[in-house]
Amino acid sequence: MRHDIPYASCPTPSSIKFPNQSAILSFFTIFAVLKMITPMLDLTYTKLHDENRQGEAFAPLLEDIQVTGKKFYIESYGCQMNFADSEIVASILHDNGFGATRNYEEADLVLLNTCSIREKAEQTVRSRLHIFRQLKRSRPSLLIGVLGCMAERLKSKFLEEEKLVDLVVGPDAYRTLPVLIEEAEGGQKGVNVLLSREETYADIAPIRLDSNGVTAFVSIMRGCNNMCSFCVVPFTRGRERSRDAISIVKECETLFSQGFREVTLLGQNVDSYCWFKSDSEKELNQADSVSTGEGRGNAVTFAMLLESVARISPALRVRFSTSHPKDITDEVLHTMSRYENICKYIHLPVQSGSNRILQLMNRTYTREWYMARIKRIREIIPDCGISSDIITGFCSETPGDHADTMQLMQDARYDMSYMFFYSERPGTPAAKKYRDDIPEETKRKRLDEIVKLQNSISRESNKKDIGKIFKVLIEGDSKRSAADWRGRNTQNKVVVFPKKGFDFCKGDYAFVKINNCTGATLIGEALTMTNAPTVEMEVSDTYKL
Ligand code: SAM
Ligand code: SF4
Repeated sequence: MRHDIPYASCPTPSSIKFPNQSAILSFFTIFAVLKMITPMLDLTYTKLHDENRQGEAFAPLLEDIQVTGKKFYIESYGCQMNFADSEIVASILHDNGFGATRNYEEADLVLLNTCSIREKAEQTVRSRLHIFRQLKRSRPSLLIGVLGCMAERLKSKFLEEEKLVDLVVGPDAYRTLPVLIEEAEGGQKGVNVLLSREETYADIAPIRLDSNGVTAFVSIMRGCNNMCSFCVVPFTRGRERSRDAISIVKECETLFSQGFREVTLLGQNVDSYCWFKSDSEKELNQADSVSTGEGRGNAVTFAMLLESVARISPALRVRFSTSHPKDITDEVLHTMSRYENICKYIHLPVQSGSNRILQLMNRTYTREWYMARIKRIREIIPDCGISSDIITGFCSETPGDHADTMQLMQDARYDMSYMFFYSERPGTPAAKKYRDDIPEETKRKRLDEIVKLQNSISRESNKKDIGKIFKVLIEGDSKRSAADWRGRNTQNKVVVFPKKGFDFCKGDYAFVKINNCTGATLIGEALTMTNAPTVEMEVSDTYKL
């Protein structure tokens, strides 16, 4: 099967023009050329925990004002999964007569979708609640609700601690929001923090919030079974469960038909995605035609899901996050390399470079295992961007352990990393078993050292991209100047280039030659239609959902 990858400008994000046919080269030719000029492609920012988005207020992409209805205001904190949950909450509220507002002063209902991953995240929410409490004093009918991980962690304790909160709703209980709101309107406190083994909200079509209309996050699973000793997620988001694959593909198809050009499949550990087809109505029709591999029966693995989403259209980019080093399979890597539209970027958090600390963290791999996975990624996908999460100052971390982390960073040459100092979370295995014995000053000093090291590795990686040509998906105006476009290459690096002389718009693909860089951004110029390569893609027929 052959598909053209669209290149050129369009009047709306959803319409695509096709390139000058004389400019068409085969995918393999272009791939070979790009490989020659891009021995290693790097850095990027899929911001799983995007500092710029913390506390972001809801604004619907499409018209969402229920003219006669009540208004809700929602702020989101934490990881992308929380932001994706706010879109589900928006959809539930919309169906129950609430319209969204960005102005909390005109809202009937104020919601905070919270994060518990580090103490600082909880402190931010508490200070925000302070402001909303003042508003409630002047307008007692205003309802204030706390959603998400902090609600789950503190449960009804929240109501004792934060007296003016009316609703406390955990991540698996959003369907009950309308009932809880009704109770709260009648003067009762509404609390539901029950965790579920099944809830995936598969049937709820999220209302996209604050979207650029080009990129979207799609939740494919919930919860986590891993029990890393430092992490509160298994306690706040419950057991791991995978969402119906057919509903995921449908959601991605809908996004594509609405003009979106990139989906990021989200889960705490996407490589353990596993959904059994026998649960679906499609089973009777399709079970026989699915190649599922030996011994897996009707199971849809992450590699199969990835392939199914990639097949929606070669013009739809697919990303995913997060991968766990113990679970990422060669099957996933081979699927990535087969499909041009599956982005060549993997977020593979290491957390520490010391085997002793990795064991205390219960990460279930060693640094040697981890480095072997990095080697494998680079063998199968030579141009893959790789990023990581790293924690400094975990319980009992010695200067030697810290040096091991620095050395691993040198060896892995991450394109970027999210770096944190350890924050003890009540109830986690680490809080129960180990002493949080590294002074905050030392934790911060070590954090500062790894941040500096990562910055220099990232800058080096960016410099290597000067002179290369990247296919860039345009996401919107550059933050600095409306005269420039801002987009990303397949490795997730931010690319900025001037609009002048071209007829591009948001959602277009452009080929951009890189002339310069900063530590975080590649700066280039678009190639003209006639001298830019256009990619044709071979799509294999190995898996159909
Ligand atoms: N599921 C992903 C994984 O396994 O890598 C990460 C999920 S967590 C929401 C994001 C990151 O927060 C983790 O990778 C870890 O680096 C960091 N983190 C989690 N708990 C932490 C803690 N108690 N203190 C500091 N950082 C923490
Ligand atoms: Fe937390 Fe580990 Fe699960 Fe990631 S894999 S969410 S760090 S328990």
